[in-house]
Amino acid sequence: SAFTAGVVPPAPEDPLFGLMTAFRADTSPSKVDLGIGAYRDDNAQPWVLPVVRKAEELIRSNPAANHEYLPIAGLPELGPATQKLIFGADSPVLADKRMRHADRDALALQVATLQTISGTGAIHLGGLFLSRFYPADPKPTVLLSNPTWANHRQIFTNVHLPVASYPYFFPSTKGLDLDGMLAALRAAPDRSVVVLHTCAHNPTGVDPTQDQWQQIAVAMREKNHFPFFDTAYQGFASGDLARDAWPIRYFAAQGFELCVAESFAKNFGLYGERAGAFHFVCAPSDSAADAAAAIASQLTVLQRCEISNPPAYGARIASMVLNDPELFAQWEQDLHTMSGRIIEMRRGLRERLEQKRTPGTWEHITEQIGMFSFTGLSEEQVKILREKWHVYMTKNGRISMAGLNSHNIDYFAEAVDSVVRET
Ligand code: PLP
Repeated sequence: SAFTAGVVPPAPEDPLFGLMTAFRADTSPSKVDLGIGAYRDDNAQPWVLPVVRKAEELIRSNPAANHEYLPIAGLPELGPATQKLIFGADSPVLADKRMRHADRDALALQVATLQTISGTGAIHLGGLFLSRFYPADPKPTVLLSNPTWANHRQIFTNVHLPVASYPYFFPSTKGLDLDGMLAALRAAPDRSVVVLHTCAHNPTGVDPTQDQWQQIAVAMREKNHFPFFDTAYQGFASGDLARDAWPIRYFAAQGFELCVAESFAKNFGLYGERAGAFHFVCAPSDSAADAAAAIASQLTVLQRCEISNPPAYGARIASMVLNDPELFAQWEQDLHTMSGRIIEMRRGLRERLEQKRTPGTWEHITEQIGMFSFTGLSEEQVKILREKWHVYMTKNGRISMAGLNSHNIDYFAEAVDSVVRET
């Protein structure tokens, strides 16, 4: 046989999923899971959004519902709805453009959108497309923030794109290293692909301000870099969908060609349903609609040979909510419930650590936003928290704020205080 032991080297376990397994095996009643990147309610339970429950009932009660295949590009009514969600209903990129190489009256957008396998699938499809079609030889380098979501590097490497990183996090302030980031963007090869977290940066919780985004845009423009927005937390960061999408809308209004990988995992709580979308925006020009149509056709071929067509269930839920004003309003409330609880936990944790006079500074806990906080705890401290206190978090000191609740926040603050004092 060809595949004898040793021919295929064993791959390391995914660190995050390994952490989940270790947490499940821990029998301590006081164990705390701060590793998982999924929202939990105040009882540490998964939360099905009330608006999602409502949409599910509507889908179930529809006698015409079935399990047919979706088109290759996904549910037809999801595309336009999600374009409005990302770019804003009155975005210049969503204005009809005349096609040059079609019938005289043909109108189309300068945006190509396909439904994907959640955010991961959207990043993969975008990476694959850029690897195949980016008009550059050699292939462009993909620049990732340091640090970034652990999956980014392997997704781009897997489609044979070279990967490098730009400074992002400044350990001493636990904030953004804007100067380092701008210098790296200026030093990178022209026309690099730059992956930008639209909001609620994972793992740091540190986002640029609008003024800082404008400076990033200037540096990107100087070097003709290509922005690749990863949007996994829209509405989850500030609770406001438009505000969370501001960086994309700003870059689009500046006339950048860009792409967006969008996930409905967190903001709809549809993690396992794998609903998301990929958008490619062509730069404004006379032929932008023709370029977008050709790009859409190639994306469709890539999608067809990889997944044939995307899953229907989560897309139906998201589409129903996005296309119905009443459900949409309820969704916004649900987003406030989630982001509000997380903000409350941030406040509560900082307050407790400051009251205990835990050595160090803790403002960053409330200054960072979104699901995660980069606490600044060292790898050694993380290890003690796990072994002695049964608190599970990634070894870079990242905690998922959604894992904290009114029942465990005192315990966690006490654990952090104790570990910081003893190390
Ligand atoms: N991008 C970032 C920054 C993330 O944190 C995640 C999920 O944790 C994703 C993309 C993709 O998630 P999914 O494939 O579940 O939509």
